[in-house]
Amino acid sequence: MFRGLFAALVFCALLGPALAHEHEVPLSLDGNFTQGGIIVGQTEPGAEVRFGEHVLPITEDGQFVFGLGRNHDASDSITIVLPDGRSEVRSFDVSPREYVIQRVEGLPQEYVTPPEERLARIAAERAVKWEARQPISTRIGFAQDFIWPVTGPISGTYGSQRFYNGEPRSPHMGIDVAAPTGTPVLAPADGVITLAAPDMYFEGGLIFLDHGHGMIDVFMHLSEVLVEVGQEVSQGDTIALVGAGGRATGPHLDWRMYVMGERVDPANLVGPMPDPDASDSETGQGGE
Ligand SMILES: [Zn+2]
Repeated sequence: MFRGLFAALVFCALLGPALAHEHEVPLSLDGNFTQGGIIVGQTEPGAEVRFGEHVLPITEDGQFVFGLGRNHDASDSITIVLPDGRSEVRSFDVSPREYVIQRVEGLPQEYVTPPEERLARIAAERAVKWEARQPISTRIGFAQDFIWPVTGPISGTYGSQRFYNGEPRSPHMGIDVAAPTGTPVLAPADGVITLAAPDMYFEGGLIFLDHGHGMIDVFMHLSEVLVEVGQEVSQGDTIALVGAGGRATGPHLDWRMYVMGERVDPANLVGPMPDPDASDSETGQGGE
């Protein structure tokens, strides 16, 4: 702390008045600065906010959001340019995560290596899913305090390296919450439905929900989809029922999230699972 302060004093002394106004740029960044993290920022209305290759959308109140990917570098920065031309580059560290290896056994082999005659369907569904996660809307649900869509034992975590029936596959990019078939799935925040499909090959019942500013979450393996594309939902609304459709070993909700195309960990938005009896991550039931 002392050394940091000393360094800051030296820095100011060396660079003097030329950068004295730099710290006047109002900027707060709130979230988990970790791989898979989701950061909500606040700056002056009308500012330009640059992160990576994106100019981020900003609300009338000056709020914005960005995500840190599964393998994000150990540090990064965000650039703010105010309407009057003042600017700041704010650097931050990104803490690494350790990803567990998770072996999922007992899946029907058609979900591990799909048969030839299913490939056209899988490709068509991939295109539909891609389309449904493109919107960068002006909605502001992204800035709400999110709630868990379902509570229960966490049976799979973001980023884990997956083996299905012994075969390596892509990392698991969602959080799995085991719950009985028919359990209501609640909208974790306000938004609009961009995909509502009753039966996708890998996902079973599948919903995409747009919270604005490129934040879109995904709910998989649903037994019932209770919403339609274009439908507005409010936080806490029941949008679906838990199921075990698609590539799943039992009933659970797989909850995923994109922020400006980056796949992040939605668990960062909700804190610990509320039911203390449900927090045993070793419980292996209902995963994919
Ligand atoms: Zn899953």
